[in-house]
Amino acid sequence: MNKNEYNFDKSDMDYLTGLPGRSGIYHYYSELNDDDVLHAMFVDIDNFKRINDTYGHSMGDRLLVSVSRHIMQFSLGYVFRIGGDEFVILIDGNEVSSKEEVEQMAVSIIEGMENIDFRKDILSLISLSIGIVFEQRACQNLDDILNRCDAAMYQSKYNGKNRYTIYNSDDKSFEISRNIENEMEKALENGEFRLYLQPKVNMITSEISGAEGLSRWIHPRDGLRMPAVYIQLFEKNGFISSLDMFIFEEVCRTKAAWKGRTYENLPVSVNMSRLHLYDRRFPERLCAIADKYDIPHNELEIEITESVFIKDTAELIAMTTKLQDCGFLVSIDDFGSGFSALNLLKDLPVDTVKLDKGFLHNSSNTSRGRQVIRSVIAMCRDLKIQVVTEGIETAEQVDFITKCSCQTAQGFYYSQPVPVGEFEVFAEKHKENIRRCYLFRLDPSSCVPVQNVNDGKGASTFSPGLGTYVSTVAEKAFLSEDGSLKAVYVGGIPSFTQGIFSDREAIMFPGGDVEQNVIEVSPNAIVNDSYTISFWCKPAELHNWSSIFYMKFETGFSSFSPIAWEGEADFRIRDSREVNGWYDSSVCVLSEDLWWHVVISYNAQTEMAVAFINGEPITRNGNVPANRFVKRIMLGGDVFQRSYIGALCEVLFYNEAKDYDFVKELHLDYINDPKYIGGKLKQLI
Ligand code: C2E
Ligand code: MG
Ligand code: MG
Repeated sequence: MNKNEYNFDKSDMDYLTGLPGRSGIYHYYSELNDDDVLHAMFVDIDNFKRINDTYGHSMGDRLLVSVSRHIMQFSLGYVFRIGGDEFVILIDGNEVSSKEEVEQMAVSIIEGMENIDFRKDILSLISLSIGIVFEQRACQNLDDILNRCDAAMYQSKYNGKNRYTIYNSDDKSFEISRNIENEMEKALENGEFRLYLQPKVNMITSEISGAEGLSRWIHPRDGLRMPAVYIQLFEKNGFISSLDMFIFEEVCRTKAAWKGRTYENLPVSVNMSRLHLYDRRFPERLCAIADKYDIPHNELEIEITESVFIKDTAELIAMTTKLQDCGFLVSIDDFGSGFSALNLLKDLPVDTVKLDKGFLHNSSNTSRGRQVIRSVIAMCRDLKIQVVTEGIETAEQVDFITKCSCQTAQGFYYSQPVPVGEFEVFAEKHKENIRRCYLFRLDPSSCVPVQNVNDGKGASTFSPGLGTYVSTVAEKAFLSEDGSLKAVYVGGIPSFTQGIFSDREAIMFPGGDVEQNVIEVSPNAIVNDSYTISFWCKPAELHNWSSIFYMKFETGFSSFSPIAWEGEADFRIRDSREVNGWYDSSVCVLSEDLWWHVVISYNAQTEMAVAFINGEPITRNGNVPANRFVKRIMLGGDVFQRSYIGALCEVLFYNEAKDYDFVKELHLDYINDPKYIGGKLKQLI
């Protein structure tokens, strides 16, 4: 049908532009023969809404008239105005058979915009996005043709507007992108976006140590839509800001609902797009949301992807530092995914680095790659930055990464990101069932008759007094200071003596045969592969190889004897999987009748055993293999030698390796206590 052949009915015409409107295009199309071929072009004014909102509707109308004339001027077919700022051109494929000609027409329309007769300030704000579909047969439904060129037009918008795109039926993204931008705002209002949580797990203890909040779009027609489908588009069109804030608020709301549960204080991280980092009020907005739900800021973590820092580095570092000043945790996400952020670590004191899953997957098959991962983890540890490895999928990866001294993983091996309800079931199972620390003072005031251990009232039946304490009850149990763990005296009647504090006593072990007059501590005191044990002891009579402390594992034991090789105390680790698996750290001479503060520490990640005396590190032993699964913990003796003779008090069990600074401080806390009467300590080194 020739360009000028069709006569439109008056009722089909758009009063504003004088072009045929939506009904016009259907009438025109219905007159075509089934085997007619046509090309369709969809033209949309970029930022038109903004012109209407800023300059008013009459200015918008005038702009529409000018643009429609401009399009008419270059058009090779019929032009229709089918919506507010949407124009469609249908071109007869028999008349214009060259695709190049159609493309040239699109170029002229786009480029000619700057010359139209209109206010230049307004013209500078707008442009045209065009979608083209070639060679459509008129036998099909017009809506299908319109949808295709409309989808191509949307693709132009995503790619930065002011351009044309040719529809390609093989490319699925055309359909989805078109729909997504139309549906996103409503979807947010309708609650189609959901918070999913993926646990971060301690690979050694299998405890849950945190979670990451990730968005999912539950689409009423398509079902679950993954972030890969929409995040990039939202970043281009700015909608990501609304989505990120929504997810952050969902995290706060969810955490508020956890009040009183064991995982109430679990830190949860959220991803924040770079767009926020340019918004000065961003930290304030986060604070307001967190405070609304009464969530401590240090339980909320902001993940910022590594690549963000390529541009505007200084500005972005200032913003992340501000987030930390507000008390939020900050992590670098996708570390190692491309851009090298090593330099960044120097300037940006982040709390956590998340190793990208691609980095793990690509690097862990070569020995060089593994060395790089190991070094990156070691460097982060030196900088006191936590490391989380993403994308852990197999037991081999768990093994490798824990050996590299990283203990936190996020990956399908433990759990996929799941809806909140499912996550809560996981958290309940993997909750923090390890108390970080147990203190047994071994003072009679923490002593209860065995039969009353569980009612918590037994303690009152004992009246502590100084000097040797003789009880009328034969068996005693000592509770940890928090009341949750028990230690039982195995032997006759325990006696007590002055402890290191003026108002406390210490247990006085009388010695005896193997396993006699000892204390059995609940093995639950140590459930981690790394541990630290601190105690005060005052040997009364020294016997070679008698232990003060003994811990039996499935695969060996560890012990501390105040006198062993050449009169020196010894921290011993036995690995029974090896014939020669004896690892002794000789400490120093511990003389009798003096109080000694002993700390022994084992780090399963670095395979390092360290002993401290009176706050000073005395010996370290490397390459000591980890023993797993504590079966028995004994104080005052072991299963080999006669028992220890002397005093013991203030026994602390930590489920992690402690460093020098910690031990030094712990020691100073004791001796600076006004009630400390442990006596002047000998300078050891
Ligand atoms: P991300 O922040 O690095 O999140 C981790 C992604 O790795 C998640 O993909 C998670 O499902 C996936 N993953 C975790 N463990 C494994 C594993 O063992 N193997 C494999 N192959 N993948 C694993 P998801 O949920 O599809 O999210 C993809 C990305 O989309 C996220 O990467 C994040 O950058 C972005 N994203 C998701 N939700 C949001 C959001 O609400 N806001 C913003 N700004 N970005 C989001
Ligand atoms: Mg992330
Ligand atoms: Mg990541």
